[in-house]
Amino acid sequence: MPMKRALTIAGSDSGGGAGIQADLKTFQELDVFGMSALTAVTAQNTLGVHGVYPMTAEAVINQIQAIGEDIGADAVKTGMLFNAEIIEAVAEQIKIYNWENVVVDPVMIAKGGASLLQKEAISALKKYLLPLSKVITPNIPEAEVLTGMSIQTDQEKRDAAKKLYDLGVSNIIIKGGHDEDPSESTDVLFDGQHFYKFTSKRMKTKNTHGTGCTFSASLTAELAKGASIQEAVETAKQFIQAAIEDQIQIGNGHGPTNHWA
Ligand code: PLP
Repeated sequence: MPMKRALTIAGSDSGGGAGIQADLKTFQELDVFGMSALTAVTAQNTLGVHGVYPMTAEAVINQIQAIGEDIGADAVKTGMLFNAEIIEAVAEQIKIYNWENVVVDPVMIAKGGASLLQKEAISALKKYLLPLSKVITPNIPEAEVLTGMSIQTDQEKRDAAKKLYDLGVSNIIIKGGHDEDPSESTDVLFDGQHFYKFTSKRMKTKNTHGTGCTFSASLTAELAKGASIQEAVETAKQFIQAAIEDQIQIGNGHGPTNHWA
């Protein structure tokens, strides 16, 4: 039986907790065939990012073409893209291969504060990539940068999602991991017509490295398998909740959340 295929266009985390490593592990756990196009290498562990080494745009294009010309992809996600040149190159390739199931995780800053996207690249992200996405998955700080709004409450998440819809994004999920609610975390999905809420119990843990990557990778895997956006968000939310509750301890800092026993 042909297997569904998912491509991640993202950065490498040498520590294995976030980036393409988290994406590929998640694809494997959700039974889709995982492929990667690397945009940058980070020297990183659970304590932080020690160095960022971007690939050339040419190297990114060549990797995507190698996949597009042979294997193909049922769904694609983008993570760390680092600069405007890479963003434009990725957008161009997505158009060439007519990929529609495109999940854009607008990765900007690692939890430890390291920049994973240059400030000058934010306008390129909005101009070239967001309009090609099927769904975007900002956390609250990323949604604030993209909209210029201040966001805390569910109503503010809805207003921000609406604003992003008006920028030409088809489906928007504003994740609640950074909101002020001490007992629950609520993600809001807007599909241009309706709002949907996905709520889970907030866990007290320092092991949350790579949650955003793992969430968007599970969403991508479900879309590759043919799920609707709502179904895919439901599964992704359950997947990330189970991974956070799993509480494996790797390293001395913020442990990874890409493992689901
Ligand atoms: N490193 C890479 C390559 C990433 O893509 C990301 C997040 O997208 C991170 C690090 C940040 O992970 P976190 O902020 O969850 O620690």
